[in-house]
Amino acid sequence: MDADKKFEELTQQMLKKFLEKNPDFATHLGLHDPYDYLLPDGSTERLRENLRMAEEWIKQLRETITREELNVEHKTDWEVIEKAYEMWKFDFFELKRHELNPDAFGMLGGLIFIMFTRNYAPLEKRIDAIAARIEKIPKFLEEFRSRFENSKPVKLWTEIAIETAQNMSGLFQFILASTEGKVPDQIYQRLTKAVQNLQPALKKHIEWLQGLLQKSKEEWAIGREKFEKLLKLRELGLTSDEIYQLGLKYLKELKAEREKLAQQIAPGKSIEEVFKQIESHAPKTFEEALTFTRKTMEEARRFVQEKNIATVYPEDVLLVEETPAFLAPVIPFAALMMPAKFDKPQIGIYIVTRPKDPANLGKHLNYHSIRNTAVHEAFPGHFLQGAISNRGSFIRLLAEGTETVEGWAHYCEELMREKGFITDLETRFIQINDMIWRAVRIIVDVKLSKGEMSFDEAVEMLVREAGLSKEAAVAEVRRYTQTPGYPLSYLLGKHLILNLKEEIKQKMGDKFEEKFFHDTIIANGYLPISMLRKIFQQKMSKT
Ligand SMILES: [Zn+2]
Repeated sequence: MDADKKFEELTQQMLKKFLEKNPDFATHLGLHDPYDYLLPDGSTERLRENLRMAEEWIKQLRETITREELNVEHKTDWEVIEKAYEMWKFDFFELKRHELNPDAFGMLGGLIFIMFTRNYAPLEKRIDAIAARIEKIPKFLEEFRSRFENSKPVKLWTEIAIETAQNMSGLFQFILASTEGKVPDQIYQRLTKAVQNLQPALKKHIEWLQGLLQKSKEEWAIGREKFEKLLKLRELGLTSDEIYQLGLKYLKELKAEREKLAQQIAPGKSIEEVFKQIESHAPKTFEEALTFTRKTMEEARRFVQEKNIATVYPEDVLLVEETPAFLAPVIPFAALMMPAKFDKPQIGIYIVTRPKDPANLGKHLNYHSIRNTAVHEAFPGHFLQGAISNRGSFIRLLAEGTETVEGWAHYCEELMREKGFITDLETRFIQINDMIWRAVRIIVDVKLSKGEMSFDEAVEMLVREAGLSKEAAVAEVRRYTQTPGYPLSYLLGKHLILNLKEEIKQKMGDKFEEKFFHDTIIANGYLPISMLRKIFQQKMSKT
């Protein structure tokens, strides 16, 4: 058997084994039967087992396949597997979030949420599977609690876990209320019973969490040493200090630019007044805003094709819909629901939430924000990149190149201005302001992760520099504490993509084509930039 065939075969075997132990991951991939009816083991043992599987996978690859005989795609896949394994070991043995963060419902809620919202099967089938999973939650929680027998969890995260657990009933009530009469009685009864039976287990779990607070610890920062190691593992090519300096530099430049722009848009007016003016350029009704969003995303799609910016497949569809009422409390503004890896065709849904007070329509749904959002979320941003990257092997999903995903969408904003899709100063103002927010994220992420900035200082900086409300800033910082190295990915990713572009341009000279550059990034959206660079080198050596 040739090496590529063998690689495929081994990969399929591993995937099957892995999904048996991690049925939640299968649902995310878009593989539903029989996985949608199952939950993973909640204890630490499954995480160890996952590590063992990855180790075994690599061992078998090394023993049975000569790497040099593989095609380029498989060579890349192999590298992804090895890198993912290193990252998982770091997560498990050094960050130890599985025994510091007692939130079980983030995962469970997220899982049920996508089963309910993604329209991959008839509602009754999805509800039946949701009921089956809810039936298994008490056992999962029992196993989950065993993780914390000998550990001191983080106090802040324990408090968040309590809130999440308390909000779960709300999610179940939503699902019950919005499916009544829409699925066969028998299935509705199964769901009702599952939710009822869960109540004592949920109560017990919340009491356990409250007890856990007593033995929790204040400190959540991973500290300088581990943060530096994390950056190395991600091969970002910069130390935390260099990234921090970059954030400061961007912040300073961008603020000056915003100031200048404000004076061009409305001479003599303050930043706040310019915002007010921009927000007043808005559709009259929510329905009009929805229609305008649809139209603008369609325009962006055509523009990307006509100007040869990137390849667009006609079968990839992005719908724009109002957020269903039951989801509105968890999605205050808008969200992009990406198609799963194995979904065919690739249909995404961009849902937009109707503001509670119609007077607030212009805050997020003014003409300028919608235009920038269409570029960032749809074309050529997240949707285009995600749908095309989904055509690659599932192994790529293990790569977690967040700087490529968020960096790309952010890069697109400026690109579409250079190409002439965005021409007005007001949309530019919105873009600059978003960049300021991203620059603050860099600064705050580095400082928080290293333990050099307090929670309150981070909130204060987001409010002061990026103009976030206190409430939004608190929500942001809570998330940052749990995802060290993630918030810095947006602006740093864009920065690295721009550097890479310069590098490739230099090397290719007049052979350089922007569409080639973009298509390569779009098709490899899950890879970190360091691996993208290698893909470019391979492609260039062929021409
Ligand atoms: Zn984004």
